[in-house]
Amino acid sequence: MRTIGLLGGMSWESTAVYYRRINESVRERLGGLHSAKVIMHSVDFESIVALQKSDAWDRAGALLADLARDLETAGADCVLICTNTMHKLADTVQRAVTVPLLHITDVTGAAVASAGCRRPLLLATRYTMEQDFYLAQLRDKHGLSPMVPDADDRTAVHDIIFNELCRGVVRETSRQRYLDIVAAAAADGADSVILGCTEIGLLVGPQHFDLPVFDSTLLHADAAVAFALDRRDEPERSAA
Ligand code: GLU
Repeated sequence: MRTIGLLGGMSWESTAVYYRRINESVRERLGGLHSAKVIMHSVDFESIVALQKSDAWDRAGALLADLARDLETAGADCVLICTNTMHKLADTVQRAVTVPLLHITDVTGAAVASAGCRRPLLLATRYTMEQDFYLAQLRDKHGLSPMVPDADDRTAVHDIIFNELCRGVVRETSRQRYLDIVAAAAADGADSVILGCTEIGLLVGPQHFDLPVFDSTLLHADAAVAFALDRRDEPERSAA
């Protein structure tokens, strides 16, 4: 089994989801008492948010690159940045290591395209919805025509992420706000929903929508398990 390297803590509320999903999937696949081999760097999120707010993306990139290097030195066979937003810096992080960076947009875009969806609504932080690093990849690499909510709704989606979900707060009124935003997008032609922020799955999931839902956190975690359990290295499944 290969070792998974996680750059986590952005926020830890969603990194906990990664950790559980990865280990549950490994147990499911291998049985017995198997669990994932994981090395994690979990940052103090307050300091990352300060860099985001002050537009200090270069400093944030240098920081994440250093942490990724540490993961590789410690024995990680791949690196995951456990946040969509910080994939703005994915190239910088990939350049810092020789092991592969499993890219969240790639994994998510491929899942949407292979399900036959073309016009996903992207729910994410303001950075992810308004800058081009994520949308361009969905368009150019996966042939999708992603939609984003209008300006007021983007503010609501972003504020609920940072003021509530990253703090472990889940409110019914916020869930309803997300449902309304998706309903408006569906009326406008959206054929699916991307949960393009790793905390959004704490608030809504497939059970809340008629449209197909693609949860970037779960897809990314599953990609890590697929990498870790690449058949060539896979041990025999244990007896139950
Ligand atoms: N976890 C979030 C994401 O997937 C937001 C936190 C961050 O800004 O990194 O984008």
